[in-house]
Amino acid sequence: MRRSPFVRKRRLVAALLGAPMAPEPGTQAVGGADSASRPSTLGGSEDQSALVVEHLSKRFGERVAFDDVSFEVGYGEVFGFLGPNGAGKTTTVRTLGTLVAPTSGSATVAGIPLSAENGPAIRARISIMPESPGLYRRLTVTENLECFAGLYELDDVGGRIERALRAVNLLDRAGDPCGSLSKGLRQRVALARALLNDPTVLFLDEPTSGLDPVATHDVHELIVSLRERGVTIFLTTHRLEEAERLCHRVAILNTTLRLVGRPDELRERLFNQALEVRVRGSLADPGVVFGDLPGVDGWQESSSGGYELAVSDPGIAAPAVARALVSAGADILSLAESRHSLEDVYLQLIDEDVEAKRR
Ligand code: ATP
Repeated sequence: MRRSPFVRKRRLVAALLGAPMAPEPGTQAVGGADSASRPSTLGGSEDQSALVVEHLSKRFGERVAFDDVSFEVGYGEVFGFLGPNGAGKTTTVRTLGTLVAPTSGSATVAGIPLSAENGPAIRARISIMPESPGLYRRLTVTENLECFAGLYELDDVGGRIERALRAVNLLDRAGDPCGSLSKGLRQRVALARALLNDPTVLFLDEPTSGLDPVATHDVHELIVSLRERGVTIFLTTHRLEEAERLCHRVAILNTTLRLVGRPDELRERLFNQALEVRVRGSLADPGVVFGDLPGVDGWQESSSGGYELAVSDPGIAAPAVARALVSAGADILSLAESRHSLEDVYLQLIDEDVEAKRR
């Protein structure tokens, strides 16, 4: 299996921070009563990806939550998991987090094969931040974290809590009852809790759901700082701009996995390359201007009142289009490659699925 390009960066960052780095798979576990005696026979080596998922499916009786899903996530990668309501995102997280057993298929989580008997070892190396924080509102931030650190049987509880609160910029609210915090701040406490065991893989299930733009921005900044520290993050979200901004790669799930790749790759895979042309007024005969140009495969009027040109190579087509427009006496207002957003990709795929179901 290929070596993850993110492994070296993660080691370097941990060394620079002087932080206790989450262990490499197959070595020592992060805290927990049995951490020192973790057997290396659990499987995994530093060559492995943080997540390897092969033909995984989960059914609840007749209901299929997700089906035949395969993908890999490298160490230090931020991997976005997108899909409409009911697509199976949370169930995938719960399955990889050992909270529910898969119906079929296999997976390796933080280097450990997914199985009931490996559940405790996997849970020691991962964290799941669920959509709702689930904190004790009458307990202070610190008391909440102490409580969960106790449940996880972590060592050095004070040090871990301080590092986690510093990571989410919440040290100054450590003594406040969680019930007195805003929703955004509670989400930060939940993130601190998820960091307590210094997870090898951090699952964030819709971390900005229900937050206002300012609180959302704060959570994004935190995720960026975790990304810069080399933490592997599996992020489920409905917010496409969030995925586009934060994730190295994204997967689009709609019960089955529809696409996996970098956002720019997905745009290219799904959409033809195009140029957007805007001129003052309109062209008398656009067919004559665009009809026979190198690199231009076709044209149509765009909804913004300009022209959209399908091109095979924008580098060849753009100069030819500019020359043709000038020869035709047109005043060029703009000439640019048209950019499809991740949202365009997502909507195209989900629309295709709706269409396919209608057939
Ligand atoms: P959302 O974005 O709305 O949170 P999701 O993509 O996370 O949705 P899941 O919550 O994973 O989707 O649900 C996938 C499917 O599995 C849904 O049809 C859901 O009703 C079903 N499902 C999930 N958990 C259970 C359960 N415990 N028992 C029965 N069906 C379930």
